[in-house]
Amino acid sequence: MTMLDTLVERNQDFASHHFLKDLPLMPTLRAMVIGCVDPRVDPTLLLGLKLGEAVVIRNVGGRITPGTLQAIGMLRRIAQGEGGNPAGEFHLIVLQHTQCGIAHLEGNPDMLASYFGIGKEGLKAKAVTDPHAAVAVDVAALKANPVLPGNWLVSGLVYDVTTGLVEVVVPPAPLRHAPER
Ligand SMILES: [Zn+2]
Repeated sequence: MTMLDTLVERNQDFASHHFLKDLPLMPTLRAMVIGCVDPRVDPTLLLGLKLGEAVVIRNVGGRITPGTLQAIGMLRRIAQGEGGNPAGEFHLIVLQHTQCGIAHLEGNPDMLASYFGIGKEGLKAKAVTDPHAAVAVDVAALKANPVLPGNWLVSGLVYDVTTGLVEVVVPPAPLRHAPER
């Protein structure tokens, strides 16, 4: 049996035992997780997400990049088309992890600068070798983005690949505080 045969067989088991019919397109937990592509840190598994509960965007490092923001923008447009409530509560969860492979790219500043859409001189501030600092950097980047709805909640988590536990590094808070009246 080939590897693909194995996966197709697992899919048949999924369809028989775990498939949920008629799920809405909108995530039922009103949540979007931005995580890393590392196979050890699948957000769906380590956060116990069920089918239809959350949008999961994965990229190298689980970082906020121009590409991440573009994807979030496209998803918001799709949600608007689906009649999603733009004023409703929504959770952005930045999930990074220890021993992330992105740290191995430290010696490739051109590649990293291009990924973040910045000049090489800005790379130090992106903290690619320190996930605890990097989630804070990325939460701050989301808060600084004027296009995202101010009432969306954002949090930053770091998953420890040696224990299987996440640490809430940045507790949930609105992207922007409502203006004083
Ligand atoms: Zn990673």
